[in-house]
Amino acid sequence: MDLLDVLVEKGLRREPPTREEALAVLATSDDDLLDVVAAAGRVRRQWFGRRVKLNYLVNLKSGLCPEDCSYCSQRLGSKAGILKYTWLKPEEAAEAAAAGVAGGAKRVCLVASGRGPTDRDIDRVSRTIEAVKDQNEGVEVCACLGLLSDGQAERLREAGADAYNHNLNTSESTYGEITTTHTYADRVDTVEKAHGAGLSACSGLIAGMGESDEDLVDVVFALRALDPDSVPVNFLIPFEGTPLAEEWNLTPQRALRILAMVRFVCPDVEVRLAGGREVHLRTLQPLALHLANSIFLGDYLTSEGQAGKADLEMIADAGFEVEGTDTPTLPRHRAEGAGVCGSVRDGEAAGCGEDAAGCGHGPAGCGGHSGAGPAEEPVGQDAPAAAASPRTDLVAVRRRGAGTDLAPNA
Ligand code: SF4
Repeated sequence: MDLLDVLVEKGLRREPPTREEALAVLATSDDDLLDVVAAAGRVRRQWFGRRVKLNYLVNLKSGLCPEDCSYCSQRLGSKAGILKYTWLKPEEAAEAAAAGVAGGAKRVCLVASGRGPTDRDIDRVSRTIEAVKDQNEGVEVCACLGLLSDGQAERLREAGADAYNHNLNTSESTYGEITTTHTYADRVDTVEKAHGAGLSACSGLIAGMGESDEDLVDVVFALRALDPDSVPVNFLIPFEGTPLAEEWNLTPQRALRILAMVRFVCPDVEVRLAGGREVHLRTLQPLALHLANSIFLGDYLTSEGQAGKADLEMIADAGFEVEGTDTPTLPRHRAEGAGVCGSVRDGEAAGCGEDAAGCGHGPAGCGGHSGAGPAEEPVGQDAPAAAASPRTDLVAVRRRGAGTDLAPNA
């Protein structure tokens, strides 16, 4: 049986591919791209139909971070000309969130720059969560505030937060090359704290930072082992004024292969097309909807996305529909807490229905010949991908919405 058939069968059973199969997806040639998208699209439709969940970012506090994450325009020493402001008032955040909800977003992501919140910050964000929920009935709220200390996740949960985001971003072995002021283990710890407090864990990655295929596969399998409900896949936005400004490594085809690999490894998880989609997928964005079941609407934390209206038109034109607030995002087995079927624990696959064992600040704010070929052989390596070319013209610093007097993009 060829690679893609194997991966579809496993995805429909919620079983992970092997590491070699995941690497083989990344090694497929551009000739096989549509077969890869079609195969991963079958898995996506099995668990999420044609629904697209819209999420809306509100940057509560922008820039001036003491941490040194190389990819981040808000980092220590960043020369990027981004908006810099301190905490939005709860009513300002609620107003910004309302624009996203009016545009169709069912989740609002409240993000603040910094290593992690103080207890006073948790008080402040708790009031903000209350204000957002009061003004926007039925909205889901995800907080993204950096590394959490003991008890803070529980306090956010009590305040009404539904989810907490903290990305792993890249593999454990390369993490130290990206950030020196905190560790990969710190990030894992915060995701576990969120999980432990009963928050829906959201944790993802950033592709395009110069990592290898092995790094990408490592981080996606590490995410699977943490059993998040949602996995944002960011594509690096190489901001001028940051250490990774020259890292233009992604083609639209490569970005699609990464998304397909994530879908095969995390078949029944909300895979979110996150920061950098306009910059790297460009006119191929609609194909990514066959892989991801969730996107951010409008702008990102420090950069501008395409117009919210264009997002909605793209979804409709591609034959998808915006997910309503009365429709659960996750398949029933996950919503009921069954976790990932076949999660890899201690190197072994767990059975169906068993419990599975960045800050997310960053860009937002991862076949065979014609599907043929044995699963164990990487394929398509005779056709190397075209080199990526810088598209600095597509990187626009956010100048509207939260922290400004201008209307938000939603
Ligand atoms: S990713 Fe978060 S912790 Fe890292 S520099 Fe940016 S705002 Fe600070």
